Amino acid sequence: MRKISANYIFPIHAKPIKNGMITLNDEGKITELSTCSETDKDVEFYDGIICPGFVNAHCHLELSHLKNAIPEHTGITGFIREISKQRNIVDAQQQIQTAAFYDNLMYLHGIVAVGDISNDVLTFELKKQSKIFYHTFAEAFSCNENETDKILKKNQDIVDYGKKLGISISPTLHASYSMCNGLFSKIKHRAEQSGILSYHNQETQAENEYFQNNSGKFLEFYNEFQTPDRPVHTGKTSIHRLLDNISKNVKILLVHNTFTSENDYDFAVSASQNITWTLCPKSNLYIENCLPPIEMFRRKNARIAIGTDSLSSNTSLSIINELFTISENFDNIELNELLTWATLNGAKALGIEAKFGTFEHGKTPGIVLIDNVDTDKMMLTQDSRSQTL
Ligand SMILES: [Zn+2]
Repeated sequence: MRKISANYIFPIHAKPIKNGMITLNDEGKITELSTCSETDKDVEFYDGIICPGFVNAHCHLELSHLKNAIPEHTGITGFIREISKQRNIVDAQQQIQTAAFYDNLMYLHGIVAVGDISNDVLTFELKKQSKIFYHTFAEAFSCNENETDKILKKNQDIVDYGKKLGISISPTLHASYSMCNGLFSKIKHRAEQSGILSYHNQETQAENEYFQNNSGKFLEFYNEFQTPDRPVHTGKTSIHRLLDNISKNVKILLVHNTFTSENDYDFAVSASQNITWTLCPKSNLYIENCLPPIEMFRRKNARIAIGTDSLSSNTSLSIINELFTISENFDNIELNELLTWATLNGAKALGIEAKFGTFEHGKTPGIVLIDNVDTDKMMLTQDSRSQTL
């Protein structure tokens, strides 16, 4: 049994508790949430605040070896050019070793669960061994209809291999701009059947420009690479490609949403009942040097979750760094709300809220200490760090 206390406990399902205390049994299950009193014995007390383990709702662990490989502010088409050049810049063994290092670092810094995109099986063994729970999204993309059967088979093989290993895995689509019609509709169907999907949405204005006006950076990109089966521009914003005719109950993680308008939002929630708006602010600043319309999402009561994206477009896989970036730019958002995005909402997005996300009785959500918090203003500072207890 452990009794853990701090200046404040943020249970997430309830208001923060000053000098709160959580009691865990030997299996790490929460058995009690209370206020720490002088008569309590054998209490571990920490300076700072304590919250449940973080859920990193969007990551590509297999790209960890690309840290510092791609310059900032290339824009998305420049970024895609660089990724395809540099993806295998080191051999497979080194890619696995680097991924294992950052898996452990994520755990030490408080991350207990990850929604992780994979295009390959390289990281599967380490994800199976990890202290972190991973749901793997086996992702497919191609704008060449001649490749559709081959890519469908490869995607199925990746999913089957993951299932054989015993990891949590399902197929998913990459983005509106990166898939020809045949592949798009078939992978979409498979993802709907699995009940969950993750989708890179409106990461750049160029996506909307292409689909709405058949112009902009994606048109240039398709022309430059003589892309054979580019998506058909529809006159509508790019979010429509996924959500026109989507099965209503599938869990959808829309990732980035940097150029999602209020109209797009209203359309999306009329099309689907289970969307999590997954924001990766540091990656957006890295690639496009802009941030998603967080005030609009808050006004709409959107379910917001937090992801780090990959180290090809970020300097760390740290949820606390993402939260600090948000609070630096939107200083009116209360810490309890930010922590809800980083814990419970990510858990709901991945369908793992029975175990993770809050300090409710019977859960094993992991325990995170955040230090150097300004507890008068109840705000993160640039020195705030998180660690697993
Ligand atoms: Zn991504």
